[in-house]
Amino acid sequence: MTDRYAVIGNPIVQSKSPAIHAAFAAQTGERLQYTPLEAPADGFAGAVDAFRQAGGRGLNVTAPFKRDAFRYATKLRQRARQAGAVNAMAFDGDETEADNFDGVGLLRDIEANLGVALRGKRVLLLGAGGATRGAILPLLEAGAAELAIVNRDLAKASALGEEFCRHGAVVAKGYDELKREGGRFQIVVNATSASLRGELPPIAANLFGRDCLAYEMAYGKGLTPFLRLARDSGVTRLHDGVGMLVEQAAEAFAWWRGVRPETRSVIARMTVPLT
Ligand code: NDP
Repeated sequence: MTDRYAVIGNPIVQSKSPAIHAAFAAQTGERLQYTPLEAPADGFAGAVDAFRQAGGRGLNVTAPFKRDAFRYATKLRQRARQAGAVNAMAFDGDETEADNFDGVGLLRDIEANLGVALRGKRVLLLGAGGATRGAILPLLEAGAAELAIVNRDLAKASALGEEFCRHGAVVAKGYDELKREGGRFQIVVNATSASLRGELPPIAANLFGRDCLAYEMAYGKGLTPFLRLARDSGVTRLHDGVGMLVEQAAEAFAWWRGVRPETRSVIARMTVPLT
């Protein structure tokens, strides 16, 4: 029987993960089936149980279920435990082993694909949700000199700051403070969900230094308001999160199948021009 995998979320029709994993399977010659799986908002565990009973081998997990998956897992690998969220699961009998590859996906995209070394960089993360939580430790471990977390709800940013400050120079700020600071940051990551609704986080054009990398975690949206502001401020290094998406998928594929797919051609195929 062909091994079955899926990406679970709600909604899920928009997911590019089935196409990415199909490309990986074709490229590596692995025989597998990978489909989208929509679970009811309050029905994560039931949907996963049913998928396992039907022979499912592993799942990617996307919004809004990354915390549910964290609770569902019986064995958390280190990155999932540290992130407090899960984006990939593997089933083995009664055991569910879980990991989180979002942060490492971001890191690989910035360093290996975009050629920007994190070591010594001042990094700004806009937003304090699940994506930020998963990115903090990988960014610190890669040697970021400073990590500022800015959020509308400052309490959420401060909680992350307190939780992770023992791992490195993590500071929490509000958007007003950020406006006074100007373009101190060398890498600015929009990890808010604002772009999904065509909104701009409350940032000013002076946020972007000239040689800054402006990285939009959302993908497939073209030139989002965040990227447009960066471009209009003179930033030339503009990227969206498609590389992060493909890189985290490659990590899951390598974990499940024991073979690492090549990612560049898949990223190129999935990329929507930033216009
Ligand atoms: P969450 O829902 O967990 O967090 C959303 C965050 O966005 C919160 O901090 C919220 O702030 C902030 N926010 C929402 N709207 C605005 C706004 N208009 N202005 C300022 N801040 C805003 O989302 P995730 O962390 O899971 O995802 C964040 C983004 O990252 C999404 O675009 C998602 O698509 C993308 N992503 C990309 C991945 C990839 O592989 N490329 C993987 C995972 C996520 P507040 O707390 O104040 O409400």
